[in-house]
Amino acid sequence: MSRNSADHDADVIVVGAGPAGATTAYHLARTGLDVLVLEKTAFPREKVCGDGLTPRAVKSLVAMGIDTSAEAGWLQNKGLRIYGGGMRLELPWPDLAEYPPHGLVRKRTDFDETLARQAQKAGARLHERTTVTGPVTDERTGRVVGVTAKPVREPGSGEGAGTEITYRAPVVIAADGNSSRLSVSAGRMRRENRPMGVAVRTYFESPRHDDDWLESWLELWDGKPGQSNLLPGYGWVFGMGDGTSNVGLGMLNTATGFQNADYRGLLKAWLSGMPPEWGFVDDRQVGQVRGAALPMGFNRKPHYASGLMLVGDAGGMVNPFNGEGIAYAMESGEMAAEVVAQALARPDGPQRERVLESYPRALSARYGGYYTMGRIFVRAIGNPQVMKIATRHGLPHPVLMRFTIKLLANLTDPRGGDAMDRLINALAKVTPAA
Ligand SMILES: Cc1cc2nc3c(=O)[nH]c(=O)nc-3n(C[C@H](O)[C@H](O)[C@H](O)COP(=O)(O)OP(=O)(O)OC[C@H]3O[C@@H](n4cnc5c(N)ncnc54)[C@H](O)[C@@H]3O)c2cc1C
Repeated sequence: MSRNSADHDADVIVVGAGPAGATTAYHLARTGLDVLVLEKTAFPREKVCGDGLTPRAVKSLVAMGIDTSAEAGWLQNKGLRIYGGGMRLELPWPDLAEYPPHGLVRKRTDFDETLARQAQKAGARLHERTTVTGPVTDERTGRVVGVTAKPVREPGSGEGAGTEITYRAPVVIAADGNSSRLSVSAGRMRRENRPMGVAVRTYFESPRHDDDWLESWLELWDGKPGQSNLLPGYGWVFGMGDGTSNVGLGMLNTATGFQNADYRGLLKAWLSGMPPEWGFVDDRQVGQVRGAALPMGFNRKPHYASGLMLVGDAGGMVNPFNGEGIAYAMESGEMAAEVVAQALARPDGPQRERVLESYPRALSARYGGYYTMGRIFVRAIGNPQVMKIATRHGLPHPVLMRFTIKLLANLTDPRGGDAMDRLINALAKVTPAA
């Protein structure tokens, strides 16, 4: 069903082959469209992440036909273990019709390659080591009609970057992550009034590597909890099942001290209070401490205009409640693919454009109200007093905590469901998207 014509190099160009780009490309290729994916790195490659996947992400993996069994190298988890307010609490993932009852972990080195190869198997053409340098715009209409790109030579080959190539397609998708140079070159800047997180992580060889809970620390102490200083931020410990644990912490830009935070120092101070037998010590550290930003609550818009569509971190889709970005990258990719496939089945012109313009509306209907609630939540917990009251009085209440996990991980049944699901869905519906 390719509509590739003489003046086009593909039906759709996808820039970036992270979870957002690979998922978009997979679903587009499945409809028979000719999809060209341009990725500046070569797989396998590292990506700074916690490597934790909630049941939302598992659902998207299943939809791509990916085998998530233990034999295929995945470690399942049962839910969230929360440390805070002097308590340790285990909250299983909710039992829902919409999402599976387990999450997963997988190092991004494998995870991203698995997704990219699945897109290739579905028919997408992937050009690795190809850096997109900017959009190509139609001088008359201002519409994005392609991209310019430069091949990146293999390190050590002694050659510099190759000559610039132009690729053209009726629709271009920016899946190039948080800084999304492509969106910026097309004039789509970051919205400063949206929450932004910064997080760092590293790996340690640890006997806790096969933990089947995702562990979240709501309070970070630089020694024994309650008997030392409370540090800013939130932490996690995710067992990777391969002999190592992914350990990291993050902070939101609503927190005091966000601007001048020394993340590596904070991580060291926090881990100094951990039991030594867990192995979170210098001589068992594997790799460096590395950090990156988490763009939240739709921090770049519009998600479609003039031939350029944004998916995943490029469109600022990280969940402000819990910092999860992979599921939203994959879901937005699937939604984008559905819209683009329908649009390209219509003749070029206003009819097609109307279909493409339905993508931001679909995103807003799905996440808009929930993300607005997330922004309010992020502002509230920026105040340490609010967080203290919430952990002291919320954690001891099992029913309240079951509600909290559903709200924080956005895990409800959209139809039917229990009273908690109905309440969360109703709140998200009546809260205005912005
Ligand atoms: C420390 C940390 C921990 C996190 N932990 C979790 C977690 O546990 N679970 C979770 O769900 N989320 C987590 N996140 C968020 C998650 O990493 C992101 O939301 C997710 O990677 C977004 O996917 P994406 O495909 O949109 O972007 P990315 O994963 O950033 O992929 C973008 C791709 O585009 C490529 N690219 C960029 N520029 C160009 C260019 N000019 N030309 C060609 N290619 C280009 C890049 O090489 C990359 O492959 C974490 C983030 C951080 C920083």
